[in-house]
Amino acid sequence: NSFAEIDLGKALIDNIKRCKYVKPTPIQRHSIPISIAGRDLMACAQTGSGKTAAFCFPIISGILRNQTMSPVSNRINIAYPSALILSPTRELSCQIHDEAKKFSHQTGVKVVVAYGGAPISQQLRNLERGVDILVATPGRLVDMIERARVSLRMIKYLALDEADRMLDMGFEPQIRRIVEQMEMPPPGARQTMLFSATFPTEIQRLASDFMSNYIFLAV
Ligand code: AMP
Repeated sequence: NSFAEIDLGKALIDNIKRCKYVKPTPIQRHSIPISIAGRDLMACAQTGSGKTAAFCFPIISGILRNQTMSPVSNRINIAYPSALILSPTRELSCQIHDEAKKFSHQTGVKVVVAYGGAPISQQLRNLERGVDILVATPGRLVDMIERARVSLRMIKYLALDEADRMLDMGFEPQIRRIVEQMEMPPPGARQTMLFSATFPTEIQRLASDFMSNYIFLAV
């Protein structure tokens, strides 16, 4: 019933305290131990339930535990994030980015956001400074992949936030293209977390296509 009881690592626990989170919300209490254990997760959770932290904490803690931090830059300027968080809108992406940055404070984990409807140039410059966690809307991310500025080959953690809303907005083809980019051997090397308010047939199909042996959670 407290974050300290979950094996998140000292740096993250300190940041959680700084954010004044005292105890986990129900979705966090149930989902974080599952994700920390490395299992794929399908979670039905509403806005305001604390789902952002539910997928950010296991990602940050996993990156810190494995020290799989990205290099700052390379000669050919391709970014290799180890975690990807997909969200439907610019507003939600920025919100997730702000929270993820607070949770990553002074850990060295770099968080970058990319969304459509704004010039791509500044977002590309941000990528060049190094990125561990990329928060993105699907259309803008496809654009960056086509420009060969980001590679998803090293993705270890994938979170889809408000997946039902992304499908309502017509992002399914982009999402499938994105996930096709990250098949990394051996199978199961990637950990996936799918968050959705509802669980219709289309989401069930995404879940079985993108995840292996996942745990279903409804809070
Ligand atoms: P979310 O559902 O992720 O959009 O979170 C809703 C709001 O609750 C955000 O303002 C979070 O910062 C806040 N929040 C999330 N988890 C906790 C927690 N365990 N304790 C206090 N506030 C929280």
